Amino acid sequence: MAINLLPPQLANQIAAGEVVERPASVVKELLENSLDAGATSIDIDIDKGGAKLIRIRDNGCGINRDDLKLALARHATSKISSLDDLEAIMSMGFRGEALASISSVSRLTLTSRTQDQEEAWQAYAEGRDMAVTVKPAAHPVGSTVEVLDLFYNTPARRKFLRTEKTEFAHIDEVVRRIALSRFDVSINLTHNGKRVRQYRAVKDESQQNRRLSAICGNNFVNQSMQLSWEHGDLAIKGWVEHPLSPVQSSEIQYCYVNGRMMRDRLINHAIRQAYDGYLQGEQQPSYILYLSVDPHQVDVNVHPAKHEVRFHESRLVHDFIYQGVLSVLRQATQESLSLTSD
Ligand code: ADP
Ligand code: MG
Repeated sequence: MAINLLPPQLANQIAAGEVVERPASVVKELLENSLDAGATSIDIDIDKGGAKLIRIRDNGCGINRDDLKLALARHATSKISSLDDLEAIMSMGFRGEALASISSVSRLTLTSRTQDQEEAWQAYAEGRDMAVTVKPAAHPVGSTVEVLDLFYNTPARRKFLRTEKTEFAHIDEVVRRIALSRFDVSINLTHNGKRVRQYRAVKDESQQNRRLSAICGNNFVNQSMQLSWEHGDLAIKGWVEHPLSPVQSSEIQYCYVNGRMMRDRLINHAIRQAYDGYLQGEQQPSYILYLSVDPHQVDVNVHPAKHEVRFHESRLVHDFIYQGVLSVLRQATQESLSLTSD
């Protein structure tokens, strides 16, 4: 059998299979790009659950005209340039795949302006060879990525899209996770022309609870305790649910490692273990935790969508989180005890 080199579009579509599962995954990748670009304000417009339109506009650093083509090419990234960089990732992106993948399965335009450019430029990639066309456009400093008709050319994928409502719920969840990870960034979300979320940037402590309750509800804010724990180059901050809180809200379980949202069994296990003896049966604790680790001590390049991490010293991290959570739980229950005995 003859061996063929795949045309770029097909190669990108195959890669897209791993990162672009549904509209919400597009939103995640684009939001991460906006954060990496230093944006402080991001507007997200969605039509028809994202199947028709996903538009993300930011006030980040923008992309120079000469780099627009590269931004849409596979394995092109401004975020790392060596193995050393890969071993100490601080940015959300680094694979240089998202824009290439998304543009191979949609009609994507990228419009951008940098501080030192007089005008904005717009790029889109087309056809099997994904040739990029660049033309002048109007746009303030920052970028807008517009994704139309996701999966229009991959019918098998399009078929797997669920109802508009379900797809939008996934998007809403992604936006919420990002909003929790960066209180300093203002984020607006509209669906079919209607404003659905407005998360304002937090400038001081007093505004923090307002944002937290906008994202997680008043119940969580009223029933959780703040946590801050440090040891060596490990630090953990966030909120954990009071063990004696009357209403358990099981949906709120978020964990961030160096700013990146994770589903990590090790971390989850450590938290559960700390709550052992405080919660009954199948009760699940709610928490929002932010772990900072020396980036050399953690590998984020485990999965294309970067949902998982590997800690070099996982036992240490586990015990650290366990101790940190346990200490606030002990303190909280002691306070409640002394209150009731007064
Ligand atoms: P990665 O994020 O892994 O680098 P992407 O395909 O998501 O790969 O993006 C490619 C490049 O395009 C990025 O490295 C960045 O330089 C540029 N880029 C993408 N989105 C934005 C944005 N919103 N603002 C500024 N630059 C961007
Ligand atoms: Mg990216």
